[in-house]
Amino acid sequence: MKVTVDNNRCQGHARCVYFAPEVFEIDDEGYSRVKAGYETVPVELQESVKKACANCPELAIKIS
Ligand code: SF4
Repeated sequence: MKVTVDNNRCQGHARCVYFAPEVFEIDDEGYSRVKAGYETVPVELQESVKKACANCPELAIKIS
């Protein structure tokens, strides 16, 4: 499973960080990004990333 954050949609609520702090972080400008090395989500974190995706108010998280 792969995950990306659409910077054109992200508004920096950090709900993604709440649900999957291992995978998402807030950058210096206040927007979310996927941590280096987590673009391919480890199996044990996939459920957390799915919750983050489902709870992003801006639909900025894409998983495939
Ligand atoms: S919850 Fe969505 S909009 Fe908010 S910081 Fe995370 S990716 Fe961005």
